[in-house]
Amino acid sequence: MKHRALRSIAWGPLVATALVAGAGCSGRAASTTGDPVQAMNSIEAGGIRGHMTFLADDMLEGRATGTRGYQLAARYVAAQFDALGLEPGGTEGWFQPVPFRRTELIHAQSSVTLMRDGLETRLRYGEFIMSGDALRAQSAVSAPVVFAGHGVTAPEYQHDDYKNVDARGKIVAVVRGAPPRFSNDERAYYSWSYMKAKTAVEHGAIGILLIRNRHDERMAPWERGVRQSKLPRFEWLEPSGEPHHVFSEILGQASLSRSAAERLFAGAAASLDSVLDRCETGRSVSFVLPTSARIESRSRMTDTQSPNVIGLLRGSDPKLAGEFLIYSGHLDHIGISEPTNGDSINNGAFDNASGIASMLEVARAFRRLGHPPRRSILFLATTGEEKGLLGADYYAEHPTVPIADVVANVNLDMFVMAYPVADLVAFGAEHSSLGPMVRDPAARNRFEISPDPAPEEVVFIRSDQFPFVRKGVPALFITAGAKSLDPAVNGDQVGEEWIKTRYHAPGDDLAQPIDYDSGARFARVNFLLGWNVAQANGRPKWNAGDFFGKKFGADRLAAQ
Ligand SMILES: [Zn+2]
Repeated sequence: MKHRALRSIAWGPLVATALVAGAGCSGRAASTTGDPVQAMNSIEAGGIRGHMTFLADDMLEGRATGTRGYQLAARYVAAQFDALGLEPGGTEGWFQPVPFRRTELIHAQSSVTLMRDGLETRLRYGEFIMSGDALRAQSAVSAPVVFAGHGVTAPEYQHDDYKNVDARGKIVAVVRGAPPRFSNDERAYYSWSYMKAKTAVEHGAIGILLIRNRHDERMAPWERGVRQSKLPRFEWLEPSGEPHHVFSEILGQASLSRSAAERLFAGAAASLDSVLDRCETGRSVSFVLPTSARIESRSRMTDTQSPNVIGLLRGSDPKLAGEFLIYSGHLDHIGISEPTNGDSINNGAFDNASGIASMLEVARAFRRLGHPPRRSILFLATTGEEKGLLGADYYAEHPTVPIADVVANVNLDMFVMAYPVADLVAFGAEHSSLGPMVRDPAARNRFEISPDPAPEEVVFIRSDQFPFVRKGVPALFITAGAKSLDPAVNGDQVGEEWIKTRYHAPGDDLAQPIDYDSGARFARVNFLLGWNVAQANGRPKWNAGDFFGKKFGADRLAAQ
């Protein structure tokens, strides 16, 4: 899952044959003569374990976009697709190379300086963090700072954080996230960093300083942000060679630590604490700060590429085979970072070897049917997710099948199987007819469905379903909830601890507790859900009046 700052029961009786699955490399699948429940139940823990054990091995060095470790992972997935009897679905066989610009910040020549009453304070790296500038090897901006709440302009909620300030030619300081009074996924949409930058640009800002919100302060270790900020930034490139979705108007951007943000607010009309509290209430707050800032950066850029990996299972109904369900899951992770506890490899076992393992076992189950479903199924292992959902975004902009014929996206990312999982959270369920379709597959695999336990994590915009949603495609993204089948486990506690200590850290590796059986049950749910989508007479539809449906999928909205 993209960094923002985040969170046994054996199924036996219906399995007619015990000769199934194994550890992920057993070749072409035998038929179960079209019975989806049998095919579903052929997914076993050993299949999940086999793929994860390879993909999260130290030898793959954390599968960072553009590295040899990622290439090995991509070869592995292509080989599995081939062995399963899928068709190559990329632009170059199994692969869709994505052109990228890789940008590294030169820390020694990059700085943030705060200026007030003729006094200058140059912040240390670590008091601020920033990424390189993907457009300019050298950049500098110096301007007064205005504070603009969450930096959100949301007409639907009559909410405008810019209403009392003139941001033209200024640096805006904004708090991360969006008002808690917004509904969960709309809150997620307005938390999207691209939307924040776009809003800032529309109000004339030329620089951005990001401030952590209360939730970030509680849940996201600042040191993790510092560690991760030192990894290179990636953007995908337009045919013109320009990086996609980068605003040339923004001449400098940095995030501030707690102490740096306090300094920014020194002598201001309201204290940092009071504005953070006010932001929590959802009311907008904005004012001019008595501080100016100078943001300078030096960057080193290289253009490179890294592939999505794509396999296709062609549908069997001549009328529906031209429609596609896309299973997506990111294959990349964050690679090698500065060490924590002597370990510098971020193996990404849950994030997201788990999702790729599920995708491969789902594909195997589809092949086990012996007879393909009515609609076609595309399996998309993406690159660049951890760099900003880039591989999925590139795919959505350069689809290998017509995007209008993509009826749904089921995304698989970071199934945290740290204990026998008893419940699932289905992100996106309330937006489309896909939502109710989760219930039966979940119940068959002994999962309850729970509501989003942490809306402030804005998960709906943080994984690969989001670029599809922006193309109007109804999407679902199912993750593990906080309930355990083991009464001795407090899932909330384990989950919170996992996010703090192992998420995007070397501890998300194969040595942590992993309940592979939960992983198999999770894959079964996603298989049966997809099978039902692929078989249904009608395509999934956005719910009438839905926020995302109206914004992006007007042509696919359900009739009122
Ligand atoms: Zn991640």
